[in-house]
Amino acid sequence: MDDLLLTLKTTFGYASFHPLQREIIETSLDGRDVFALLPTGGGKSLCFQLPALHRPGLTIVVSPLIALMKDQVDQLQAAGVAATFLNSSLDADESRSRLRGLHRGEFRLLYVAPERLLLDNWQENLKAWNIAALAIDEAHCVSEWGHDFRPEYRQIAKLRDFLPDVPVMALTATATDRVRADIVKQLKLRDPATFVASFNRPNLSYKVIPKDQPAKQIINFVRTREHESGIIYCASRATAERVAESLAGRGFLARPYHAGLDAAERSRNQELFLRDECRIICATIAFGMGINKPNVRWVIHHDLPKNIEGYYQETGRAGRDGLPGDCLLLFSAGDIAKQTHFLAEITDEHEQAVARAQLRQIVHYAESAGCRRAELLYYFGEKFPLDNCGACDNCLEPRETYDGTVVAQKFLSCVYRIAQNSNFSVGLNHIIEVLTGADTEKITRWGHDRLTTYGIGRDLPRPAWAAIGRELMRLGYLTVAEGEFATLELTPEGREVLRSRAPITLTKPMDLPKAKRVTRRE
Ligand code: ADP
Ligand code: ZN
Repeated sequence: MDDLLLTLKTTFGYASFHPLQREIIETSLDGRDVFALLPTGGGKSLCFQLPALHRPGLTIVVSPLIALMKDQVDQLQAAGVAATFLNSSLDADESRSRLRGLHRGEFRLLYVAPERLLLDNWQENLKAWNIAALAIDEAHCVSEWGHDFRPEYRQIAKLRDFLPDVPVMALTATATDRVRADIVKQLKLRDPATFVASFNRPNLSYKVIPKDQPAKQIINFVRTREHESGIIYCASRATAERVAESLAGRGFLARPYHAGLDAAERSRNQELFLRDECRIICATIAFGMGINKPNVRWVIHHDLPKNIEGYYQETGRAGRDGLPGDCLLLFSAGDIAKQTHFLAEITDEHEQAVARAQLRQIVHYAESAGCRRAELLYYFGEKFPLDNCGACDNCLEPRETYDGTVVAQKFLSCVYRIAQNSNFSVGLNHIIEVLTGADTEKITRWGHDRLTTYGIGRDLPRPAWAAIGRELMRLGYLTVAEGEFATLELTPEGREVLRSRAPITLTKPMDLPKAKRVTRRE
């Protein structure tokens, strides 16, 4: 048996490496920078913990969450590894005593929050300690293109300047190509060896249903699962509270978890959940980062998540033990409206554009008639090789289609006429208003009521046109041009079908409940 395998068995108690773990560990021990993209549950921690025991000196682990640090350090200490952490949860005496230990070289692993590293006296500390490696966990936090940007992460790059010879390992579970490139740049990785594991979670099933009566829908779902653990993600604290209460009122072991609870209650609810004494956690996204509960059997999203990365990450908390896990998303047009409304409040232009694009992607996922798994993997730049995954709603029960040639022609020609007439492109809402013959100030001002396509879509309600528009985007006939406002334009393919009048098959939209009225800004 080789040394690494021996440590894996004796210290960590595992029989074999997970995919890519060995390669990552060996490459890091060779002194190279490493960029590792492993899905949630892929075993990222081991990738920096194990080599720390095989090289002299101290390995520093930068990690964003205090709760996560303590968990990992507790586990390591239980396994006999000299690990410690420093963060704001410690009192001054405890911090000093740990620092003394570090100066004496007593530790192999030190977990720190990123902001710690920038305190002035730290640079001297870092010089004094024999630092052998630097691991950046949740590395996507460094990128504002990701779903969890933390400005303090940007400062980590200074460490690179400061410790030029120390190999750096960046790890994350979620990164699109763009975020990936950003991580490498921001963290100043040097010719990193890159490892990307498949993001497919074959044991998870995916399903999206129209959100109609969420309370009832959730109870129907959990009724037969009393002895299973699950998480219900909600968009707000109030919803998390309400859902937990309604379930508890019916005898389910459900509790809330969100940033509005005091720390004691939060950690008690989490503890109970970990011990299976509470079965259902109703949480805002604050819950789960670093929570390591292997037997979560299902995850419900009560509200539309903000982006696909977050959705993937949250659903990824199901089935970490490799046994089946079910992921259910409740989807309503009202949620899209609500989020669009919030988006308008984001003042930073760039940030708003990012959020808008992310919302579009998750709506696309929810409305898609294609394989959910393929959609998710596509987002992460991976092609799912099968036509049918056998474990998502669209694969198990393909959605109905219809001959959409006429409606598609109406829609596309309306886009064409507007662009031709005005020499500028407009957003989805305006197109629908023209189609349905609305009487708005803009329509009059721009003379769009004189277009031949004005009012040709009065036979369908506006949400139906919105769904058709999104479907045409999905099919590649329309594209979104990002400017100050997201506007729609015909693609070359769109122009071609408009000209040739080729038949177009559309998928019947899910029967979405109507949007509640939300004030919308144009
Ligand atoms: P990640 O950070 O990638 O989500 P973790 O490092 O928390 O994943 O590991 C996920 C789970 O898998 C943990 O319970 C961990 O102890 C376990 N694990 C890690 N590596 C192995 C391995 N080689 N064999 C068995 N279990 C492992
Ligand atoms: Zn599928």
